[in-house]
Amino acid sequence: EVVKRNRVLRLELQRLATTDPLTGAMNRRRFLEAAEREFRRGLRYDVPLSVVLFDLDHFKKINDTYGHAAGDDVLRHLVKVAQETLREPDLLCRYGGEEFAVLLPETDAAAAEVAALRLRIALEKSVAVSEEHRIRATASFGGTQIDVHGDSLESALSRADQALYEAKKTGRNRVVFKAAPNRALRLA
Ligand code: GH3
Ligand code: MG
Ligand code: MG
Repeated sequence: EVVKRNRVLRLELQRLATTDPLTGAMNRRRFLEAAEREFRRGLRYDVPLSVVLFDLDHFKKINDTYGHAAGDDVLRHLVKVAQETLREPDLLCRYGGEEFAVLLPETDAAAAEVAALRLRIALEKSVAVSEEHRIRATASFGGTQIDVHGDSLESALSRADQALYEAKKTGRNRVVFKAAPNRALRLA
């Protein structure tokens, strides 16, 4: 009985250490570990993988209009929509306040872009319910395929971040993908 209780406690501690308490999504530390693992797997088996960053649009306004607790409900709603829309092996992470990351194993840029578009549209069509409020939210997405031979995880994340910045700058509620620099050119 004590052993069993310890096991339950240990699993609970592990869950707390690896997930974001508000949304239940993977936290950043756990995500970076898992992403490094996928990166090495992509290298070893020569399978593509992609990463997408997304950030809620004008989220500050949602907080200002409906209150911080309603903003929290919108974050939880977004994670639920994302979990329903993404595939089982995709790793979803709360990367920062209202910014999220998804690592898509065995997924090239074209398929990752389709996944991001599906999520963008699913969110746009959905409604977050918070007390008496029905709140609509959108997000902007930036993605890239990870070039396991030319990228580090950091360089790929930074390219996805540039793509996200472009999606914001060019009107929000958009998906922008950025290709890895051409390796032949880089080696020349
Ligand atoms: P943009 O479209 O450019 O991303 O605009 P934005 O308003 O979403 O971005 P900005 O960075 O100005 O504001 C982000 C807001 O997200 C500010 C911060 O208070 C809020 N936020 C971050 N974490 C949480 C959270 O856990 N709960 C709530 N309710 N709000 C949060
Ligand atoms: Mg935002
Ligand atoms: Mg942000």
